[in-house]
Amino acid sequence: MADKLTAVKGMNDILPPDSARWEALENAVRHVMHLHAYRNIRTPIVEPTALFVRGLGEVTDIVEKEMYSFEDRLNGEQLTLRPEATAGVVRAAVEHNMLYDGGKRLYYMGPMFRHERPQRGRYRQFHQIGAEALGFGGPEVDAELILLAHALWQTLGLKDVRLELNSLGQPPERKQHRAALIAYFEQHQDQLDEDAKRRLHSNPLRILDSKNPAMKALNEAAPKLLDFLGPESLAHFNAVRAMLDANGVAYSINPRLVRGMDYYNLTVFEFITERLGSQGTVCGGGRYDDLVAEIGGKPAPAVGWALGVERVLELLKEQGDATAELVPDVYAIIPEASALPQVLPVLQTLRQMGVSVQMHAPSGAVEGMGSMKSQFKKADSSGAHFALVFGPDELAQGQVTVKALRDGQGAQRTASLSEVSAWGHTLQSRA
Ligand code: ATP
Ligand code: MG
Repeated sequence: MADKLTAVKGMNDILPPDSARWEALENAVRHVMHLHAYRNIRTPIVEPTALFVRGLGEVTDIVEKEMYSFEDRLNGEQLTLRPEATAGVVRAAVEHNMLYDGGKRLYYMGPMFRHERPQRGRYRQFHQIGAEALGFGGPEVDAELILLAHALWQTLGLKDVRLELNSLGQPPERKQHRAALIAYFEQHQDQLDEDAKRRLHSNPLRILDSKNPAMKALNEAAPKLLDFLGPESLAHFNAVRAMLDANGVAYSINPRLVRGMDYYNLTVFEFITERLGSQGTVCGGGRYDDLVAEIGGKPAPAVGWALGVERVLELLKEQGDATAELVPDVYAIIPEASALPQVLPVLQTLRQMGVSVQMHAPSGAVEGMGSMKSQFKKADSSGAHFALVFGPDELAQGQVTVKALRDGQGAQRTASLSEVSAWGHTLQSRA
């Protein structure tokens, strides 16, 4: 046998039965997004490298050290596997002039790629679900997006997440804060780690986003952006807070919450859990009013968030949520291969009625369909609620035997094949 090939480190296969949890999450997301009138958008996984360098900011963890970038061998273009989707969504909105008739509410789901050290809750291919509202400048849409996320946690039954909120103000306010921050960190040069020293003059705000525990005390005592906000920024912040209060959504204000990309302004927020160790941020977002213009569009305000699918699923598992078990309604037992032309149309009819059917199929091509005993064994282990036995005697009379495999163990009856549409629905285990 040839050597085994394995998946790339930090990139996971998602297999059944676990994949059912993913599907359930995706279904819940579609439902909640539609309730809030957000529409699906799908953008390419590969984008020009320049999109992220310009969009996310040169001095960010992602652009400095986490991007999978490569040169297209055929034409020399610089390309990158998307590390996040906001920049791509904004590029698409600009490219297709989507905002010509007003704001757009959009959502996406899909894989993202970052070259990080793989650990629990941190992978090199991971998945995000995100919502973006482009072309809306007021605090009500910030609140709407936070309420949307909150509604999603409720739909999923996700507990133990808390909301942290901050405001990054506007560029002139950040400029003043930046000067105070540089002065503060210069006074404490000796306590700065390598990253912080490098960023001191290029992007001191990023120092506050440090994951180094040794930097924690220093960062906590640093000048707070909130103290530099002017009346307009404060009014926006307070309006968001008032709407969350009115909806009974609890939050705490974290003045050191700055988020990992440079594109944010005003509102920023994260949903955090203590139950996943140090990878505790399940969802993060905020306002990014300058990004549309940065990417070449006519200036338009925007706000959005992204959640980490692996972390949300891990948290649901941690809570003890049972795996959604997918079992077929019916297992079709077919003793003779010669019956297949007669059996298959019946199975298709049942499927059209919404009955899920698993057909017996032998593992090899030569040894026939297999004994009744082995077929019943397969039917049992499939978890199916009913077996349909298409035996030669039954078929000769235009009938099939229906056998209950779980509730009412063993009970059986015969049913007429020409009247499938009359009794087929009785095989459906789910409403
Ligand atoms: P972190 O601080 O954990 O590195 P981040 O600030 O880089 O997160 P964002 O870019 O805001 O994360 O992405 C939004 C969400 O995507 C995160 O809150 C997290 O749930 C998830 N996420 C980010 N990076 C990874 C990763 N490498 N593996 C799994 N999930 C991730
Ligand atoms: Mg990160």
